[in-house]
Amino acid sequence: MPRPLLIENGTLLSPGGEVSVRRGQSVLIEDGLITRVAPRSRFARYTGQRLDAAGKVVVPGHINAHTHFYSTFARGLTRAKPARDFTGVLRHLWWRLDSALTAEDCYLSALVALLDAIRHGTTTLIDHHASPRAVGGSLDAIARAVEESGLRACLCYEVSDRNGAAIAREGLAENVRFIRRCQGGDVTRLQALFGLHASFTLSDATLTAATSLGHELQTGFHIHVAEAQSDQKAARRTSRMRVVERLVRFGILGERSIAAHCTHVSPREMDLLAETGTAVVHNPQSNLNNAVGIANVLELKRRGVLVGLGTDAMTNNLLEEVRVALWAQHLARRNPSAGFAEITGALFSGNAEIAGRIFGLRFGEIRAGCVGDVAIYDYDPPTPFESGNALGHVVFGLSQATVDSTIVGGRVLMRNRRLARDLDEARVNARAREHAKTLWQRF
Ligand SMILES: [Zn+2]
Repeated sequence: MPRPLLIENGTLLSPGGEVSVRRGQSVLIEDGLITRVAPRSRFARYTGQRLDAAGKVVVPGHINAHTHFYSTFARGLTRAKPARDFTGVLRHLWWRLDSALTAEDCYLSALVALLDAIRHGTTTLIDHHASPRAVGGSLDAIARAVEESGLRACLCYEVSDRNGAAIAREGLAENVRFIRRCQGGDVTRLQALFGLHASFTLSDATLTAATSLGHELQTGFHIHVAEAQSDQKAARRTSRMRVVERLVRFGILGERSIAAHCTHVSPREMDLLAETGTAVVHNPQSNLNNAVGIANVLELKRRGVLVGLGTDAMTNNLLEEVRVALWAQHLARRNPSAGFAEITGALFSGNAEIAGRIFGLRFGEIRAGCVGDVAIYDYDPPTPFESGNALGHVVFGLSQATVDSTIVGGRVLMRNRRLARDLDEARVNARAREHAKTLWQRF
């Protein structure tokens, strides 16, 4: 456990639950948790480690509820043929890229993404991993990067039949092995879900095997759901069911499970997601980029679904993602006021609840009992900044500001925009460039 840390004299913005802005406050983090929040004067006798937050805004560390670390190596890759639809995006880019990954590539791509997350105040990440030519041990390689970074992460291996039965079996085994490893470790730092690619690349036999293993381990699943209309077409063709109905039939959904995207789900499927307590994670930048559509977050929320926000590896800056999520709802609903509460709620309350279910801790607020994970922004508001308008400042102001410091469980991972001494970003990037070069040759 890191030493106690006192974050002094900051402006605290607690965006989950009841939104609040409090000035001149200090936050004490001990044994990984916030233990006391009070005006600075109350800590006069404190003699431990301090971090000055005067003139800065302190918010709970951001949570990325769906991402893919291995996407790091797609940046600047020009060898993929342009795609005409979502299946083309997968076939021309992602399935070729993940097939070229080695275990060392998995480690490095994760570490690059994690250091970038620290720069953007993102402290908890839920990853979905595929490397079909290096399945066994790939989650250990990523876990090594997570442990080095000091962040919290939940990992999984995406089981799929797209590379044949043998690799599907390896994927099942990798999930089982890694879930067991996490259950015996520090479950507040490193966690696992049972990863599945998507309904359209999973046979009934593989789903049956995954369900029985997952239920035995008492874990949830992390799966892409109806990201594009093609997933629905495949489900209708092979099983005469909608995607969510098929996953319910196999026992994949539930309170521990994450359904990423849900861009194309019917009202009946939304009700099933609500009834099973499944978390839906919305990834608007990715959906817009892939031209697959815009999930109806308002209707999902109206029907009682828990909705969170992820980036699908488009960024590690959750405040960039929340802006795009808003603009996308405005355009989709043809209403420039649509969805403010639902979208900001997905990022701050939804993600906090999803992370809470996974790590068994309280996230999303700056108060005693919550995790000691915070992002500290350089932000000097040019207009009144109060509890009643704080979320407007988040979307239009804080999202454009720079993160000054990032703290996880009381450990300072970045201070004054400098990463902790043991995180050598330049060296990691240089090694990643070398690996990217040879990976691109194999692509
Ligand atoms: Zn994804």
